[in-house]
Amino acid sequence: MPNPIKGLHHVTAIASDPQQNLDFYTEVLGLRFVKRTVNFDDPGTYHFYFGDDAGTPGTIITFFPWPGARRGSAGVGEVTHTAFSIPSGSVAYWSHRLNEKGIPVEHTDQRFHEEVLTFADPDGMKLELVAHADASEVTVPRYADVPAEYAIRGFFGVTMLHHELAPSESALNMLGFVKTAAEGSRTRFRNPAGPLLGNQIDIVVDPSASYGRNGAGSVHHIAFRATDDADQLAWREVIGKKLSVTTVQQRDYFESIYFREPGGVLYELATDTPGFGIDERAETLGEALRIPAWLEASRPMIEARLKPIELHQSSTSAQADKVGQA
Ligand code: ZN
Repeated sequence: MPNPIKGLHHVTAIASDPQQNLDFYTEVLGLRFVKRTVNFDDPGTYHFYFGDDAGTPGTIITFFPWPGARRGSAGVGEVTHTAFSIPSGSVAYWSHRLNEKGIPVEHTDQRFHEEVLTFADPDGMKLELVAHADASEVTVPRYADVPAEYAIRGFFGVTMLHHELAPSESALNMLGFVKTAAEGSRTRFRNPAGPLLGNQIDIVVDPSASYGRNGAGSVHHIAFRATDDADQLAWREVIGKKLSVTTVQQRDYFESIYFREPGGVLYELATDTPGFGIDERAETLGEALRIPAWLEASRPMIEARLKPIELHQSSTSAQADKVGQA
């Protein structure tokens, strides 16, 4: 067997307005804008990556912002909620911060004894902040006004909605995930060999729920982490025995294979290598438009089609810069 899958690598969703998406994830959630690039399969569209300061796999939420995109509706066969991890003791901070920005928040402490804040991004995508004592260590973004002690610590996991559990459970089992808890209609899986980061996959079963409709606010796919190319190829063999899986796709920052789990959610297996530092310095990640080499010749045409955006850095940036240089 190949090395174990290490939880989520990234979650990719659909947004509408690029500037609105950029502002929410950097200025409200305090994530770093890790990469400003284009959709390799549709270069007239942006592809934004947000994460921790270093762009660590397991912290990365990405978007295809399509201006004017119709809003989707979450339903069966989809990831309905994407959860980030926050340190315990930061629930009050986030609750206050989101309320102050006019974002309605639901609070529960009834899910597997964890405190969870649920809210939506500007496109209606459902997000959660899950508080727990052993939140992962990630490099907290320098260009954010969220105090380091409260900052988002990468993914906690995702929740999928399905009509039945068994088919999706067997696909997770194949990937090394095992059932760790169940509560009502919710069953939780994790990979015992993986880190805490992005390693909680929940399936909620509702036999009478409607199917989702893809659009702005919908999760497009979730990617799991393979250590390197060799592991990815070994996993491709394993997966290919049960499900239809693509050939390896070159994504510049990682390599990917894609397959659809039986419940309908598109899965990707992405390599940790080479990472986001391959085409720009760590200090200036996300500041300029990066496009793959094979599209460079078309850069003027691509830039002309993209809606201009502006990255606003918080008032603490100047100070953070000084700290960074010390
Ligand atoms: Zn992906």
